[in-house]
Amino acid sequence: MSERFLDSYKRPLRDLRISVTDKCNFRCTYCMPAEIFGPDYAFLPHDKLLSFEEITRLTKIFASMGTEKIRITGGEPLMRKDLPTLIQMISEVEGVRDIAMTTNGSLLAKHAKALKAAGLKRVTVSLDSLDDDRFGQINGRGFRVETILSGIEAAADAGLQVKINMVVQRGMNEQDILPMARYFREKGHILRFIEYMDVGNSNGWRLDLVVPSREIAALIHAEMPLEPAEPNYYGEVASRYRYQGTEQEIGFISSVTQAFCSTCTRARLSAEGKLYTCLFAADGEDLREPLRSGYTDEDLRQLIGGIWSRRSDRYSEERLKHTPELTQRKKVEMSHIGG
Ligand code: SAM
Ligand code: SF4
Ligand code: SF4
Repeated sequence: MSERFLDSYKRPLRDLRISVTDKCNFRCTYCMPAEIFGPDYAFLPHDKLLSFEEITRLTKIFASMGTEKIRITGGEPLMRKDLPTLIQMISEVEGVRDIAMTTNGSLLAKHAKALKAAGLKRVTVSLDSLDDDRFGQINGRGFRVETILSGIEAAADAGLQVKINMVVQRGMNEQDILPMARYFREKGHILRFIEYMDVGNSNGWRLDLVVPSREIAALIHAEMPLEPAEPNYYGEVASRYRYQGTEQEIGFISSVTQAFCSTCTRARLSAEGKLYTCLFAADGEDLREPLRSGYTDEDLRQLIGGIWSRRSDRYSEERLKHTPELTQRKKVEMSHIGG
């Protein structure tokens, strides 16, 4: 039986996002700008990454504390060798009822079947444009739209539930909002728009570059009328809508303009084994050293329980009031903890 662990605002620890690598084959301008994440950038050496056994052991401990949902992320999670083996190990952990992955989709066509067979249930594919030139510029490496679309179709064919995430940034891809909405409505995949966030300190974030969800929703509604759908569960991050007269959904993740900290149940484990209690934290608490220096499962449970019980993060709610002072402080990079 799992116990409920609550933080200082009485939020339970329900979700764990596990970053399996800090490396990525893309250089998205809003996440890992090529000027900063260049050839000399020091990525983590392999021995500093948590092993699959260490990740699975921690997952068991989190599951015993009430965590039911696991999301695998990165960097680009499919850059980690033998990822299906890890999925298989996690899927056997008692209490884990959902395993999802966020990916840029570039390697998905190759791995979709093996991931599904290993126990992955859902995949979120990030795609910011259907225009090859623009997409190539955004991903910083000239990857083509077709590669991602075939990854999406391979995932759906393999029986994975698929959602698409689109980050919208003013001056970058507003013109892609309607084509993306039309395309994925037609394909029957749920598209979610994400407001551009001030994660890390590398991407040159400015408030005026954020396109508020309400503006995106209004644009779509004018052409394809929307109606609200009820949230699925406590702590759901996306506001859900349906195209009127259909069951086809669309979502908005408005972490800048409508913060959802009050129901945030997510912990994040970085590839090197640090536990972050907020996407915008400056640093995390190291679990790798305790894991490697003989802590028992109960010791680790106490350690994690203590970290969670002291948690008082509500960055996005504070940002609403204090931008810009807040956005300039030191924060972990997105590619370390995976969104
Ligand atoms: N590489 C994988 C991918 O892109 O899906 C997983 C990791 S990525 C850091 C996770 C998600 O964060 C992606 O959907 C990405 O678009 C989103 N993301 C990255 N930087 C962001 C930013 N500054 N604002 C909003 N979303 C961002
Ligand atoms: Fe890589 Fe994902 Fe970041 Fe893009 S958003 S650079 S694909 S980790
Ligand atoms: Fe959760 Fe931090 Fe995001 Fe608020 S800002 S929703 S506490 S991760």
